[in-house]
Amino acid sequence: MLPLPLEQILIFIKVRNVLRVVVIAGFYGCVALALSRWIWSEHAAVHMPSYILLMALVGLAATAGGLLLRIARCPACGRFFAVSAATGKRNNFTSQCMNCGLRLDGVNARDYARRSEESREEKS
Ligand SMILES: [Zn+2]
Repeated sequence: MLPLPLEQILIFIKVRNVLRVVVIAGFYGCVALALSRWIWSEHAAVHMPSYILLMALVGLAATAGGLLLRIARCPACGRFFAVSAATGKRNNFTSQCMNCGLRLDGVNARDYARRSEESREEKS
């Protein structure tokens, strides 16, 4: 049932912010590792299987993080957070939902969350 309660929206925001950092750090980490391998190609360390494994893991983390950012659905409106249903525009690093405008800095999370128990009691 949507929208989710405030606590779950805040968890979604937190996870999404962490994923954005993972994807960006993973991408540049992978580039840095590849560059280091090229610059220090005469050193044995960059040819060790563990170095290649590290590169693969960092790259995989960035790819998986990017995929999660892409397929995650908004906890408030239920549509893809990073894809506008109206225009088809995509932005995995968007700072707000492309459909309803829920922001990742959390300033409007309360407005989008499901009404809490107190306000439901007020109504009845
Ligand atoms: Zn939304």
